[in-house]
Amino acid sequence: MEDMTGVIPCTSTPYSEFKNHIGEEVTIKGAIHNIRDMSDFAFIIVRTARELIQCVYSPDFSDYRLDDKVVEQCSAKIRGKVVKSETRDGSERYELQIHDIEILSTPAAIPPVVISKKQINCDLSVNLDYRPVTLRNPKERAIFKIQEGIQRGFREYLMSQGFTEVHTPKINYAGAEGGTNVFKLDYFGKQVYLAQSPQLYKQALVPVYERVFEIAPVFRAEHHDTSRHLNEYISMDFEMGFIESFTDIMNMETGVLKYIMELLKKEYEPEIELLKVDVPEIKSIPCIRFKDAKEMCVKKLKNITDMKDFEPEEEAFLGKWAKQQYNSDFLFVTHYLSKKRPFYTMDDPEDPEVTLSFDLLFRGIEITSGGQRVHDYNMQVEKMKRLGMNPDEFETYLMLHKYGAPPHGGLGLGLERLTMHLLGFKNVRNATMFPRDINRVTP
Ligand code: ATP
Ligand code: MG
Repeated sequence: MEDMTGVIPCTSTPYSEFKNHIGEEVTIKGAIHNIRDMSDFAFIIVRTARELIQCVYSPDFSDYRLDDKVVEQCSAKIRGKVVKSETRDGSERYELQIHDIEILSTPAAIPPVVISKKQINCDLSVNLDYRPVTLRNPKERAIFKIQEGIQRGFREYLMSQGFTEVHTPKINYAGAEGGTNVFKLDYFGKQVYLAQSPQLYKQALVPVYERVFEIAPVFRAEHHDTSRHLNEYISMDFEMGFIESFTDIMNMETGVLKYIMELLKKEYEPEIELLKVDVPEIKSIPCIRFKDAKEMCVKKLKNITDMKDFEPEEEAFLGKWAKQQYNSDFLFVTHYLSKKRPFYTMDDPEDPEVTLSFDLLFRGIEITSGGQRVHDYNMQVEKMKRLGMNPDEFETYLMLHKYGAPPHGGLGLGLERLTMHLLGFKNVRNATMFPRDINRVTP
């Protein structure tokens, strides 16, 4: 065997290189995505990692003869000559005139769902049942390429701002924020919980690294079946120290989102075009206080009973309002009631009934909750007691405060929620590769 050098010679010419090889023979590797037999010639569409390449078979191009071993979904190595192809819109496209096809692997069965059409044409539940197959459809896989771009933008921007990427445990002894939606787990005879957020750990890392972020799964035992809740989702979290105000966190998020949208436009153009994504233009994001937003909802909508939080219709209404008033797809709602925010949230010193916290709505749905946290030990212990919690159960968490922490705050941004609304889906499952919900743990 040869020594490993870490250099893998490129044996498949990417489509983007075709323009430099017009009239020359190149080799590509991919899956046979679609075959259109026109009797004396055939179009064979090859699916590579990110593109579909049109290849043309004709007995005139070489001695190679197409046979019935070439079937959809077989993996193949194709040699052929690059030529410019005719396009209706006059744009530059290239295709391959096939010289030879070498079959690398043959499928054992025909896919249960037609994936070679432009769009998967079946119910969402069937689409999800056959996910390993349906994801091969170019539109389906483009969704998750865009999702990659979102995560990448989050990571790149925060790294440029001095954040450190961390990973916190997902199996925890105490149920971080408590409540009814934590999954309980038997851990060698002890009861433990699946993390519902990295909250307590990311705060502990502020006195260590000052600014941290994490992109990781979190688990919520949501007992209801809604179009916006999953039982496992990817939370993009950050936490930053030495803030002057909780608005620093909102400003950082505005920067993150601007960067993500720019990155998508720059590096994910094929997917944006394929899915016809309406990428929002962000200059700045307007803010409104919870109290004012609530008043407006009560005035404009009927049957509002919960005065402490928003119903989905209220979020949708506020989304429309922000679009009309500010031409913004985003809206920060600030100063949520203390009663409705978790124990670690900093109350507003000017009005302790409300908190220095916010949600971010995107096209009328919550995608982020965040805010300033309590950093003073006595204040946090006091607040826990006031809420009927036992501070002794949070000994490790409270080390953060006990041994000194700067003023800090952060947020959690749901990756699937953001993807869902960016792509205009009605159901969060469309924006989840392998969703886990109350009725689904497979595939
Ligand atoms: P909601 O009110 O919509 O149920 P939440 O306020 O319980 O959400 P947070 O704890 O604030 O959710 O979580 C932060 C973000 O994580 C949310 O704004 C959302 O983007 C996302 N998120 C929360 N729960 C879920 C879930 N079950 N499935 C998918 N994403 C979620
Ligand atoms: Mg929330």
